[in-house]
Amino acid sequence: MKLSSGVATQGNLLLVQVTGAKQGQTISAEWDGHAMPLWRESPDSATLHSLAGVDLEKPAGSYEWKLSWTGADGHPLACSQSIVVREGKFPTERLSVENQYVHPDPEQEKRAAEDQKKMKAIYDTVTPEVLWNGKFELPLKGETEGKNFGRRRVLNGEARSPHTGVDFPAATGTPVYAAQAGKVALAENLYFSGNTVVINHGFGIYTLYAHLSEIQVQAGDTVKASQEIGKVGATGRVTGPHLHWGLTVNHAHIDARQIVQQQP
Ligand SMILES: [Zn+2]
Repeated sequence: MKLSSGVATQGNLLLVQVTGAKQGQTISAEWDGHAMPLWRESPDSATLHSLAGVDLEKPAGSYEWKLSWTGADGHPLACSQSIVVREGKFPTERLSVENQYVHPDPEQEKRAAEDQKKMKAIYDTVTPEVLWNGKFELPLKGETEGKNFGRRRVLNGEARSPHTGVDFPAATGTPVYAAQAGKVALAENLYFSGNTVVINHGFGIYTLYAHLSEIQVQAGDTVKASQEIGKVGATGRVTGPHLHWGLTVNHAHIDARQIVQQQP
């Protein structure tokens, strides 16, 4: 078993490679309390790939990426590798937003809770199929300066959860492209993230595009890499137009730029 690194910062993505996997052999992996799916490089390859996403809020420390399989004699076998997680250095940001996004009324609160339930159901679904095809790209053409990942936020003077996405400032109407091929898991207006698209790339990898002015796909659609899926906007809890781009890998919130740098 080989990890792209044994040390990671909160929000990082590590690649895992397992070699010598026999045909038909069932190999299971576990990371961060979740079963980690593995995929074969090609149908007859002995090499398997997987990912270790270090959640933005995973406390610093040493953790094990575990592998288990059944030996030729039928005995269970296991091995593991340590990943040392280091604390990220995330600044605190103070923002002023409309009061309804800091103190939603009961109706709005109910909506936000329903959105959250919907998102959890999506992230609980791991499609055991590589739906991407090639390199992951940034979702805006020419915009490479993403910011704000991991920022601790104080909204209207009150502490809120850290920022799990990367923000790309861009004008309303700027086309937004799918980072890679996949299946649209969600395409609708959510309370906090406004008009939102979530793409399932398979094996627990999801990208999210929020605050869109316009959505150009529907849930269930198959999208190609770099297909236009919507336009930048300022819907939901925002201070101005921008694209909020998120990456979730088996429930872990990752700095989305990592999937472009690491390429699973
Ligand atoms: Zn954002």
